Order: sequence, then C-alpha cells, then structure tokens
Amino acid sequence: MTVTLQALDVYKAFDDNQVLRGVSLTAVEGDVISLIGSSGSGKSTLLRCINFLEIPDSARVSMGDIDISIDSKNRSSILAKERAAIQQLRSRLGMVFQNFNLWTHMTVVENVTEGPVRVLGIPPKDAHDEAMELLAKVGIAEKHDQYPVQLSGGQQQRVAIARALAMRPRVLLFDEPTSALDPELVGEVLKVMRELAMEGRTMVVVTHEMGFAREVSNHAIFLDQGLIGEQGAPQELFRQPQTERCRQFINSVIA
Ligand code: ADP
Ligand code: MG
Repeated sequence: MTVTLQALDVYKAFDDNQVLRGVSLTAVEGDVISLIGSSGSGKSTLLRCINFLEIPDSARVSMGDIDISIDSKNRSSILAKERAAIQQLRSRLGMVFQNFNLWTHMTVVENVTEGPVRVLGIPPKDAHDEAMELLAKVGIAEKHDQYPVQLSGGQQQRVAIARALAMRPRVLLFDEPTSALDPELVGEVLKVMRELAMEGRTMVVVTHEMGFAREVSNHAIFLDQGLIGEQGAPQELFRQPQTERCRQFINSVIA
C-alpha cells in the first residue's frame, strides 16, 4: 500500500496557545480518515498546516517526491526556500471548506474551470467539458450558468467539491463540509462524499457527522487538546472508546 500523504509531528501555537502538540497522520491510497474532536481541539489548524495555509512551527509533510520539513531554525526562511515545494504540494491537495468559498462573481461552471485553465493550463474548451462532467457527477449540471447566490448551501458545496476535483488532486481535505448547511441539505453533500470514498479517493475529513465517520471512513482520529487522544477503526472507536475523554466526546455528539 502506497503512502499518499504523511504529516509528522505537527506543532503549532498561536501566541501562547499551543494548539497542536505533535500530531501525526498517514494516509495510504484510498484511505478515508475522519478527524473528530470538540470545537477548538485543533482540527482545522491541522488541515491548514497540512496544506500550509498555516505555517506550522515544526512539522514534516510529505507526499510522493515532495518532502517539506519545518523546524524552529528554518521556519523564518521557509517561505522563500520551500515555496516551490509548498506550491506543488498544494496543487495535489483539494480543499473543501465549511463555507464553500465559491467565487461569487463567477458562474458555477466558471468556478470549476478557473483553476484548471489558469493554474493547470488546460485549454478552456477541455476544462469546460470536464467541468460539466464533474457537475453532472455531483448532480448539479443544470445549474452550470447560475451564480452561487442563486444556489442552496448544499448545491454550493457540491459545486465546491466539483471545483476541488477539477484540480485533479491526489488527496481531498474537507473541513466540516456540512456544518454550515440546513439539516435537510446535509444528506446530498454526504452522498457525494460517500461516492468519492467508494471510488477510492483518498480523503481527510473533519466532521461532526458521526454517521459518516463511522460508516464511510476507515480510520478515525480523535483530537484532544492538541494531541491524538485516540485513533483506530471507526466502528471500534465509536463502539468502545478506550479513553474517558473520547467516550465523553462521543456521548456528547451522539446524544
Ligand atoms: P477546531 O477546528 O478543532 O474547532 P481550530 O483548529 O479552529 O479548532 O482552533 C484551535 C485553537 O486555535 C482555538 O483555540 C482557536 O481559537 C485557535 N486558532 C485557530 N486559528 C487561529 C488563528 N489564526 N489565530 C489565533 N488563534 C487561532
Ligand atoms: Mg474547525
């Protein structure tokens, strides 16, 4: 089994708030890893450190031939020195945010073609065809010429997923993709994510959807106070948490 993405010993503080205190995560091809934990436990920060939206205080992040190490000594010069590697890493990671983050002045299909045309250099016609396929895949092709504001949250999030896929990422990172949605719209987004998982996509998903974590992911990580409190097969972790804090968390979200 090929390791697709590895983040080792990620440390990150904001001033004196030590948010991540040595967290590691390894995804092999086809893994669906759910990251769970209470609000403020560092889940978003971990995802953001993995794609360097935040620069960790120290960490090693690798993916294929890309290998980026940051420590307290080189951190100040990291941006200059590792910029190319960070760009390359980012181009292999697709990110889906809680609030969709679509470009409001572009139509649905333009949102999906923008990156491929500008960043990957794909000819516009090809990018358009591919975008339409992706929009069909997430069940929203008929809205291709509308603007994000004309869409429901669930529809916008499905566009955001199509946009991420259009960049041909090797790993998809999701940060609470359904948390901003009205309850009746959660299912349509989870359905798309479940299909991606079934296709064998490698995914890391921060989620409060415990059903998704239990049934779709093959590995669950419980983050607690900046450390991995517990991890393992989701079925086991949910059925029989080994630590009191994980037990409390699971009871609080399932109740
Ligand atoms: P989670 O996603 O698990 O809810 P976060 O990773 O968003 O947690 O936040 C973890 C902690 O880091 C919180 O205490 C939060 O206030 C703090 N934090 C996150 N981002 C920043 C930032 N950009 N500046 C300062 N503090 C931050
Ligand atoms: Mg968060």
